[in-house]
Parts: sequence; C-alpha cells; structure tokens
Amino acid sequence: MSKSGRVAGKIALVTGAASGIGKATAQLLAKEGAKVALTDLDGEKVATTAKEIADTENEAIAFALDVTSAAAWESGIEKICQTWNCLDILVNNAGISFAKPVTEMSLTEWRQVIAINLDGVFLGTKSAIPAMRKTGGGSIINLSSASGIKASANASAYCASKAAVRLFSQAIALECAQNNDNIRVNTVVPGAVATPMWKNQAWWADLEAKVGGESQAWESIAATIPLKRFAQPEEVGLAILYLASDESSYVTGAEIVIDGGYLA
Ligand code: NAD
Repeated sequence: MSKSGRVAGKIALVTGAASGIGKATAQLLAKEGAKVALTDLDGEKVATTAKEIADTENEAIAFALDVTSAAAWESGIEKICQTWNCLDILVNNAGISFAKPVTEMSLTEWRQVIAINLDGVFLGTKSAIPAMRKTGGGSIINLSSASGIKASANASAYCASKAAVRLFSQAIALECAQNNDNIRVNTVVPGAVATPMWKNQAWWADLEAKVGGESQAWESIAATIPLKRFAQPEEVGLAILYLASDESSYVTGAEIVIDGGYLA
C-alpha cells in the first residue's frame, strides 16, 4: 500500500536520532510517510525508536553511525541503498555543545567539537550526494545554531563549528545547483530547544546551584528569550520536515531560524 504524507515514499537518514531534535524529526518524517534510517552513536537507543515507528506501520531501520567516521558513513549509506534503493533526505543533526574559556581548552577538546559538528556534516554530505544522484535528487538539511550567528563567551568551539555549517551548506547548495544534481541544501538555525543537550553541559550544575534547582535553571534561560520559553524539539522538526518535502522545491542555500525571537 502506498503511503500518504508530506514526504511519502521518500528515504531519509537522520543522524543523532537517539535524542532531542533528531529523534523528534525522525518520528515526524516517518509519520509523514518517509522510510527513515535512525542513526546515532548508540545503536540500541535508536533501535527502540525505530521499533516504535514500525509499530505504527511506518518503515524505519536503525543502526549505530558515528558521524566522525568516514567508514561508518560509507557502510551506513550502503545499508540504506541495499534496504530501500538509496537516499532522498539527509538530516545532519548530530552535534555536541561545549563551553570552556579558550585559554583552558585543549586542542583535543576543540577538535572533538569540530569533528562532530563540522567534519560530521562534511562527511555526511559527501557520502549522501552520490546516493541522492542515484535517486534523481534530494534534500540535505544541516543543523546550525543561533550560536552560529550570535557569539557567546566561553563557547568559541561551538560557535565556530555552527557558523561554519551555515556557509558550508550554502557552498554545497551552489555546487549541487551548478552540477544540476537536483539536490537542495539548507540550514536550520535553532535557538534554545528543550533537549538533554543543556543538562549535559558542565556549567548546568553550577547554574542549578545558583538559581535554586532544575526548573529554575530552565526558567532563567527562558527569561532571556522574547517568547519566554524553550522550543520543543518538534517545533524544529517541523521546519526540517518542510525543507525535506517538495513543498520547499525552490528553497536552497537558505536558513530557517527557529529561535523564539532571540536573534531579532
Ligand atoms: P541532544 O544532545 O539531545 O542529541 C544529540 C544526539 O547526537 C545524541 O543522541 C548524541 O548521542 C548524538 N551524537 C553525539 N555525537 C555523535 C556522533 N559522533 N555521531 C553520531 N551521533 C552523535 O541534542 P539536540 O539538542 O537534539 O541537538 C541536535 C542538534 O541541534 C545539534 O547539532 C545541536 O548543536 C543543534 N542545536 C540544538 C539546540 C538546543 O538548544 N538543544 C540549539 C541549537 C542547535
């Protein structure tokens, strides 16, 4: 039976799909008819979500994929092409946040942020384009951040990696257009999204201690946002869904900011 939905029949790969924005996006794409490969460092976590998707009669597979590994990308794309006849949608979502003053940051720490947030997007894009050419085109969506537009003290590696993703995406959008690949490349720029990424930060415990607890910590950050709240992961997923679908057929080299007015 053929599926209906905004991305019906399309084949999608989402990185970092075990948590937060990646997980919500994979669920949305599946709900809208796509066949979704959920990938993350942790293959078991994504397997659980893929099973939940399959239980709703949508198609999903899951496997471990470390975005910093060229070999993992090669075998991951091959697996998808063998399962479903290659790729239409790539969501380069996996990322880590990191905060430390530059004088205290080791080269290893710097390189880890750049490896996941930027090398991962490069490797994913490089691997996906040949697979998308086989299906006659596709859509690549890369995750930047408001921190890739507006800097924050003590977040230089994160800011640098996310700013680089924006121009990388635009350059590849032009490259694909020049090659008549029918592959669109766009960037999503979230502000503050309620995901585990925040609590994984080394400074989060200090913030909780300072403001008197976890809910106060969330509220103290929300107070700095014009809409006075965090985005839910699905609110970012909906922008990704739009860019993944043919509804955005004339959109390439663009950015969608989803930040509750933070950058305004
Ligand atoms: P999250 O921590 O909830 O999820 C990130 C996922 O990426 C995790 O499941 C993690 O295991 C995975 N991951 C980390 N390193 C990986 C690697 N090497 N290979 C494969 N997977 C890896 O984070 P999130 O908030 O959902 O963030 C998703 C993306 O959105 C990131 O790129 C992040 O920078 C960006 N972003 C998030 C926010 C926010 O406020 N949460 C704001 C702006 C941008």
